[in-house]
Amino acid sequence: MGYLAGEFDVIVIGAGHAGCESALAAARMGCETLLLTINLDMVAFMPCNPSIGGPAKGHVVREIDALGGEMGRNIDKTFIQMRMLNTGKGPAVHALRAQADKFLYQHYMKKTIEETEHLTLRQGMAEELIVEDGRCVGIVTKTGAEYRAKAVVVTTGTYLRGKIIMGELIYESGPNNQQPSVRLAQSLKDNGLELVRFKTGTPPRVHRDTIDFSKTEIQPGDENPKFFSYETEYSDNEQLPCWLTYTSETTHKIINDNLHRAPMFSGVIEGTGPRYCPSIEDKIVRFADKPKHQIFLEPEGRHTSEYYVQGLSTSMPEDVQLDILRSIPGLEKVEMMRNGYAIEYDAVIPTQLWPSLETKAVDGLFTAGQINGTSGYEEAGGQGIIAGINAARKVQGKEPVIIGRSQGYIGVMIDDLVTKGTNDPYRLLTSRAEYRLLLRHDNADLRLTPLGYEIGLISEARYAKFVKKKELVEAEVERLRTLKVKPEEANPILEAAGSAAITQTVDMLSLLRRPEIAYTMLESIAETPDELSEEMKEQVEISVKYAGYIEKQLLQVERLNKMERKLIPDDIVYEEVKGLASEARQKLGQIRPLSIGQASRIGGVTPADISILLVYLEHYNRVTAARGS
Ligand SMILES: Cc1cc2nc3c(=O)[nH]c(=O)nc-3n(C[C@H](O)[C@H](O)[C@H](O)COP(=O)(O)OP(=O)(O)OC[C@H]3O[C@@H](n4cnc5c(N)ncnc54)[C@H](O)[C@@H]3O)c2cc1C
Repeated sequence: MGYLAGEFDVIVIGAGHAGCESALAAARMGCETLLLTINLDMVAFMPCNPSIGGPAKGHVVREIDALGGEMGRNIDKTFIQMRMLNTGKGPAVHALRAQADKFLYQHYMKKTIEETEHLTLRQGMAEELIVEDGRCVGIVTKTGAEYRAKAVVVTTGTYLRGKIIMGELIYESGPNNQQPSVRLAQSLKDNGLELVRFKTGTPPRVHRDTIDFSKTEIQPGDENPKFFSYETEYSDNEQLPCWLTYTSETTHKIINDNLHRAPMFSGVIEGTGPRYCPSIEDKIVRFADKPKHQIFLEPEGRHTSEYYVQGLSTSMPEDVQLDILRSIPGLEKVEMMRNGYAIEYDAVIPTQLWPSLETKAVDGLFTAGQINGTSGYEEAGGQGIIAGINAARKVQGKEPVIIGRSQGYIGVMIDDLVTKGTNDPYRLLTSRAEYRLLLRHDNADLRLTPLGYEIGLISEARYAKFVKKKELVEAEVERLRTLKVKPEEANPILEAAGSAAITQTVDMLSLLRRPEIAYTMLESIAETPDELSEEMKEQVEISVKYAGYIEKQLLQVERLNKMERKLIPDDIVYEEVKGLASEARQKLGQIRPLSIGQASRIGGVTPADISILLVYLEHYNRVTAARGS
């Protein structure tokens, strides 16, 4: 039945949020790339919330953009609302969040993919991996087409053995009644990968014209929106509001009265759900003392009447869902257009992956996205770009790119996954990062654009612009350090800001360090260079105000990097390391960390084990060196 349908450098299975980034990265790095997906009308589809960004997730989108990825540009073209969250708090938690026109988002991502050189987009269902001598060299599709390649990236999301659950109704399906991906799950298992069963859920969609908005609170976007991509300077997208309402006492009663019909509690659902994105029935049970829960009504797009009911993810039976909806202020007469549901799917246990996202079991096979146990478009995109970069570098015979925990949330996420694993769908939070002040929304380019340029994903023109911006910011900080200001010049401004007057001439920097003084307040006496954009001024302000904290974190990073530079030979036999605790021996043998730094983050490996390992490595390196000389 099979026939050779094509030969490529890289094959990416699945055009979801991970797959699109993987395929674009590999093709833009010059690899002939095939992007194979079940349904071309579902490219970059958002099966759940029509939004991109928020705390930690927004940071990842900035990082994808700084590396040369697509998600940031795509959402800047298609947003229907943009808001910077947490502006009342420190810059580490400032996070951009956009409401997307999910249909336009798909349209533009597909268009970008279709217009990218070296990239072939094809509809088809991958069913089998071709593995020869431990190396993945291609795939076979449902139609018997055989595609050969030097590296394969699997990004199948929530489709692997997908099963939809809605009350008593259970059926095999991917999201939105798409075909599930069943045989590929078996092929992954046949090639030595262990799978785990996870679950996630989505809320109903309702018709705009049946909502009584007068009973809700408007949630508008920012007047002067910021953007995700460093390339976006302007947008005339008209913004649409979201609306806030709450569950009522009746809502809670309906749910409590029907818990016996809730698959979550009747044991029908096997998969583990996301801790930080619970269903409404889960919230009502877990937070029984809470009188009401927030519900956001979010438009799914500019040219549709569908509204997403955020906060009401559920797998209750259809009739109960309707009762729940109509018990909420503003939704009393609502028409439900799509039911909420839960979906169970297979994921790969991520400790089976190297930090490059290549599988340990099969050479040349990479996985990215929800299949690695995460939840979220942004988490998927962040892994997708790294897997695509590393599949291309594998083909090009180059070392893999690994983002450090101090370089980006992408690094934090991947390191957490491959070093610690996850027991439920992993969602990124700012609290997962040790160096939050270094991993900010504003400085993703400083952290990652040089790397994006080095690997060929950032153009010369963009890099030159980045270097110029960096130089201007650094020069401005230096200028303010040497610029003297007299009391008579500064005090009117300080007074207006409720800041203590100065009695003698000081440098401008010392004024800017004051929490109540913003850069914009000093512009009248600082003669700001015209070239300095608002974004650059913000960076000047942050780097001056937080200089002390940043320095402290950089010292911590230096200590971390020392441990990361202590590499562990890949042929180490942990059974031979005397004194290691048996749990540590087992975990080290299973995860095979690349460095002492990574080893120290494995659950169950104690500081005592690390000391023993360090002594062993010293001896090992001495012996190896003696043998080499
Ligand atoms: C019902 C539901 C609720 C969700 N709720 C949330 C939530 O509340 N919060 C949150 O953060 N995230 C949620 N998500 C998750 C979010 O959708 C995913 O995290 C994100 O889409 C993952 O991106 P991905 O690229 O890994 O996979 P996906 O976006 O799922 O894309 C996978 C792609 O692979 C293709 N594919 C699969 N198998 C094959 C095959 N064998 N051959 C070829 N192509 C294949 C599919 O057609 C699809 O295009 C939810 C998802 C669903 C389905």
